[in-house]
Amino acid sequence: MNAPDDFNLRPSASAPVWFDRPRPGPFPPLTGRVSYDVAVVGGGVGGLLCALLLARGGRSVVVLEARRIGDGTTGHTTGKVSLLQGTKLSRVMRTNPPSTARRYVEAGREGQAWLRRFCDEHGVTTETRHATTYATTKLGLVRAESELAAARTAGLDVEWTEETELPYPVLGAVRLEDQFQVDAMDLLRALAREVTSEVGTIHESTRVVSIDRSDDRVTLATDGGAEVRAGAVVVATNQPTLLRGGFFARLQPQRSYAATLAAADWAPAGMHLSSDREVRSLRSVRSSDGEPLVMVGGSGHVTGRGSAADRLDRLLSWARETFPGSELRHVWSAQDQSPADGLPYVGPAVPGDHRIQVVTGLDKWGLSTAPAAALLIAADLLGGHPPAWGRALRAWTPREALAAGRTALFNAEVGWQMACGHAARLLPGENAPLCTHLGGVLRWNDAEASWDCPLHGSRFAPDGSVLEGPATKPFA
Ligand SMILES: Cc1cc2nc3c(=O)[nH]c(=O)nc-3n(C[C@H](O)[C@H](O)[C@H](O)COP(=O)(O)OP(=O)(O)OC[C@H]3O[C@@H](n4cnc5c(N)ncnc54)[C@H](O)[C@@H]3O)c2cc1C
Repeated sequence: MNAPDDFNLRPSASAPVWFDRPRPGPFPPLTGRVSYDVAVVGGGVGGLLCALLLARGGRSVVVLEARRIGDGTTGHTTGKVSLLQGTKLSRVMRTNPPSTARRYVEAGREGQAWLRRFCDEHGVTTETRHATTYATTKLGLVRAESELAAARTAGLDVEWTEETELPYPVLGAVRLEDQFQVDAMDLLRALAREVTSEVGTIHESTRVVSIDRSDDRVTLATDGGAEVRAGAVVVATNQPTLLRGGFFARLQPQRSYAATLAAADWAPAGMHLSSDREVRSLRSVRSSDGEPLVMVGGSGHVTGRGSAADRLDRLLSWARETFPGSELRHVWSAQDQSPADGLPYVGPAVPGDHRIQVVTGLDKWGLSTAPAAALLIAADLLGGHPPAWGRALRAWTPREALAAGRTALFNAEVGWQMACGHAARLLPGENAPLCTHLGGVLRWNDAEASWDCPLHGSRFAPDGSVLEGPATKPFA
């Protein structure tokens, strides 16, 4: 892409740094009627990893991707593969016992080790880095201290420090050695290549619009009129679509922003995430022609609520003040699903029926959790023994009762957004389109030129076509 030098650039005019790299594919859309052992819906890191492990286990596998591989969250990630995850562990321990937090860390450790091996064996660019959760405000300090305690309880070998490399004052930081950062497009390319070399099949521009159980098979229909019959399905669509189980009501879609800067005199040696109210993420990255860049991220908010342009401006203003004289190279945004208690949902979409599996709720840390999720699903579908840490990742367990208060709050907010949207639509001149998922009134995203749903995060292009679910149908 052209290297912009203008801090007013909008994400619609730009793309992630990873999009400078060669993309996987292209893969042809699916046509006709086909039959496979397993159909995987979604070609992000979650779907491709599941497909790979199942294909290696001898299953015939097809991956159905609505857009192109990389168009989802994985192609827009900041690419840190870290077990120190901001203030995640203290959040998990707010509603879960320490044993669950320990299992979550164990799952991440397993996933991280798997991914590191995979990257080493398949030439995917990775860099070993220390990670920090750092504070620049009093509130951030309290949160960082509580993360230190939670991380130690959960079995991470973390340290406390007041010295960091950051080019601004820091009150204190939790530090973990020997984590790594990855090139997201390199990773997707290697995964797609391995899936196809294991005799898996990938189809892009193939949106699944329904999943039906009948006899002992599952039938999937696509927007292009094709049909897949499969023994089992893995739904890895980020925000799970097409499922019973009400997952959309247990998740909150969080949209956030990222940018790269050419900052002449500083590059981070570590991967950093603040515990302040205004979260800031930093790491280093190289452009495709080798230019060293600083990647910054933050300004997260619930999709469709508040002005996206204001959030983006806040991140870019901070970047401009922190790195004076730097030039903006890329700007982008993306969303991921945050469950009420911070733990993912992996496994059967309805209890007792292994035929339909789900991977969701990766909560902005899917790069270490998705490989663990894939190992768990492979154990379910190939008949292996599920690891003990898997219990921290399962849906339909008592953890959901412990987080019921927060889930209720999510849904009360959804009800409020629904009521406010429809009340506003009664005013003269207000005719915003309706979401095809549950009829929420869409809000115009002033940074990305899209219609976003403030209920469950569906997003639509100006012509009404679906960008992100849970909606699967365009608005007219
Ligand atoms: C700004 C940002 C920064 C992040 N940084 C990090 C980080 O540093 N470290 C980390 O570990 N995690 C990070 N994450 C989170 C991580 O990137 C995600 O958890 C992970 O990429 C999610 O992968 P996925 O496969 O579940 O989803 P996706 O990558 O979104 O893949 C889902 C795919 O399903 C497709 N799809 C949807 N509906 C259908 C349908 N009906 N039919 C067919 N296909 C469909 C979509 O097009 C999409 O390609 C970040 C997230 C964000 C938003």
